[in-house]
Amino acid sequence: MDTDLKIQSDFKKNFISSLIFLREQVVLNTLLIIPAIFLIESFEKLIIFILILLASNIFSMYLLGRKRNRELDEIRAIINNIRKNKYQTEEEIILDQNLSALQKAIKKMFIKTKNDIDYLQRLQKMRSQFLANVSHELRTPIFAIQGFIETLMNGAINDKKVNLHFLKKANHHTINLSNLLNDLIDISMIESGEMRMNYGYFNINELLNNITSEQKNLADEKHIDLVFRPEDNQLQLFGDKDKIKQVMVNLLQNAIKYTEKGSVEISVEEKDRSATIIVKDTGIGIPEKYLDRIFERFYRVDKARSKSVGGTGLGLAIVKHIVEAHGSKVFVKSAVNVGSEFSFQLKK
Ligand code: ADP
Repeated sequence: MDTDLKIQSDFKKNFISSLIFLREQVVLNTLLIIPAIFLIESFEKLIIFILILLASNIFSMYLLGRKRNRELDEIRAIINNIRKNKYQTEEEIILDQNLSALQKAIKKMFIKTKNDIDYLQRLQKMRSQFLANVSHELRTPIFAIQGFIETLMNGAINDKKVNLHFLKKANHHTINLSNLLNDLIDISMIESGEMRMNYGYFNINELLNNITSEQKNLADEKHIDLVFRPEDNQLQLFGDKDKIKQVMVNLLQNAIKYTEKGSVEISVEEKDRSATIIVKDTGIGIPEKYLDRIFERFYRVDKARSKSVGGTGLGLAIVKHIVEAHGSKVFVKSAVNVGSEFSFQLKK
């Protein structure tokens, strides 16, 4: 009984589906019937011809409708499977041979959608990780400051041996906090595309001279020689002067932070159409396996060391973004306990 009903409803469905070809059928029939009227003289034979024509039409419309329904069902099933994430690869998408062009288009759409979803999921994961890192980084100095203030309030304020020491420590953490916030603002400006670049020609040696004088105290405090001997005082390079200053300050401060004795040397190597700016130190160096990772946000080779010298873990990520915005790349060479060399090129 059920099968009978299904056959009936399939027949109806197939027939209705074929109705989109009705116009073509009517045109074809008219084209056949008009000459038949003139050619077939006997009225009975004409009626028989028309009846056979109509019967064959109904049959062919049914067949067409059935084929169309099968194809539509196949396409519908594929769309549903894509919607329900049932396919792992595009190879699983298979349509009837005569729909190969459509199959190709669906595969392309599937690959694009899959890539977009993968990208969004990666982005979402990175965002959550970033947020977790930021909260963690903020918590450390805030807890430390809170601890020192509480200890002072609980009586240490009157203890001349420790009160100044605690205040200095709390101050050290507020400086870390402010460095972190500044770096976070920079990173978010870069990533949201809000960091405006102001390109132009500037005198590189003048800029490097100024930066060296500004950072001299930091190097003196650690008894490290900060060396810069410019060759061509008139050399003009193309870039955003303020952002290049930020890059250089980050690289120099890192070089000083991670060097215990010896020197930090800045040099400019001029080429035909560009110049390479190099910051070289005789510091602790970076093991080769970490060289790729140090440009990641919050990545530090030695967490405790970075924090104790006021590092945020964001400096090199900012450096990389800025240098890449100049169409260039930061290179690093390093050997443990020998030193590190960071360099990048700017156009002339
Ligand atoms: P941080 O604020 O921790 O210095 P950065 O992003 O500037 O963060 O640097 C990432 C890590 O790379 C540092 O934590 C440090 O381990 C390593 N690093 C950067 N510059 C140097 C350098 N000149 N010498 C040795 N290690 C360095």
